[in-house]
Amino acid sequence: MNEGRISSWKCRCDETAFYRPTWAEIDNKAFVHNLAYIKSRLHTKTKILAVVKANAYGHMVVPIARQCEKAGVAMLGVASIEEGIYLREHGIKMPILILGSIYPLDNLSVVAKHKLIPSISSAQGVIELIRLGARLKKTMPFHLKVDTGMGRIGIMPQSAQALLKKIHGRKEILMAGMYTHFSSADSNRAYTQMQFSKFMEVVKAARKLGMNFTAHCANSAALLKYPQMHLDMVRPGIALYGLSPWQKRDKKMDLRPVLAWKTAVVFLKNVKKGTAISYGRAYIAKKPMTIATLPVGYADGYSRLLSNKADVLVRGRRCRVIGLVTMDMLMVDVTRVPGAAIGDEVALVGAQGKERIRIEDLAAHLGTISYEVACAISHRVPRIEI
Ligand SMILES: *Cc1c(COP(=O)(O)O)cnc(C)c1O
Repeated sequence: MNEGRISSWKCRCDETAFYRPTWAEIDNKAFVHNLAYIKSRLHTKTKILAVVKANAYGHMVVPIARQCEKAGVAMLGVASIEEGIYLREHGIKMPILILGSIYPLDNLSVVAKHKLIPSISSAQGVIELIRLGARLKKTMPFHLKVDTGMGRIGIMPQSAQALLKKIHGRKEILMAGMYTHFSSADSNRAYTQMQFSKFMEVVKAARKLGMNFTAHCANSAALLKYPQMHLDMVRPGIALYGLSPWQKRDKKMDLRPVLAWKTAVVFLKNVKKGTAISYGRAYIAKKPMTIATLPVGYADGYSRLLSNKADVLVRGRRCRVIGLVTMDMLMVDVTRVPGAAIGDEVALVGAQGKERIRIEDLAAHLGTISYEVACAISHRVPRIEI
């Protein structure tokens, strides 16, 4: 990247003018491709709820939501009322399910005001929603959340029967959906199967009462692994963003990474053997080296735990991060990059030539999952659509 190209980014980015050459690129084509790939694995009648919580796993939620709207996605899933309101304020009209627990229950009136759909996990929630429906003289839609083994939120299957009888036939509320969430769809077949069976018992009990609703349980891992669990709707998150729900990537899955994280060399120096790099002298040059400084650090979400571990790409070559990652800058070893220069574009995540750094690679260094690395890319990093 030369100076000219850096300033051209400034011009392209009308909403978030940025001057520091550190940014994330969101590849709309890759997102549309992933959505189509997921669709290709579903029965034509199976709907998609796209999970866009946490700013679409760090991928910039509004454009992602617009793509979903265009592509005929049935519904969006967010974590909180705030995330739902944000989408409404940005003109997103499609149905939005709040996957999180509504607390305090007074907040249900805010949910209704913004035409969001709450998840209800308790008898108390049902009672409050009935009260609200009566007050507003409206039928309040909701999805019932059943805890079949995730141990997070949801009514227990043994309590669900009694609750279904309270719900059934009430004019003030409508159980538009029923769902459960898997704890180990990526790793434990037997447990997932057990959760699925428990869920189907509750679904069947409700259908026996004559209730008509959308049943859903499959996250990305279940969607890709267990077609028999697709039911009426699936709930992919991570796969939409082209990231693997498994620790190890499965090359058979035709998923393309949507996010690339870029920066540029802003400072370059040759150092002698014995030179200390960054805080705490955690790296000492063992030989004469060429070191580049990049304007990105842990305040951008590039974890300090990647110090001396992760690679970045410069001119298509892998370069190790050396010394401790600081809040706003980090250093990389470009000794073996011919022609390395100030202004060179750097991929923290993404491809250059034949090389690619994946979010999964950073997650492996950190001993965590791709989800956390993607969500951690902070608001300080402007996102641009490409
Ligand atoms: C986050 C979430 C999902 C999406 O999970 P992925 O593993 O990202 O596909 C689906 N359902 C619920 C309830 C969630 O909270």
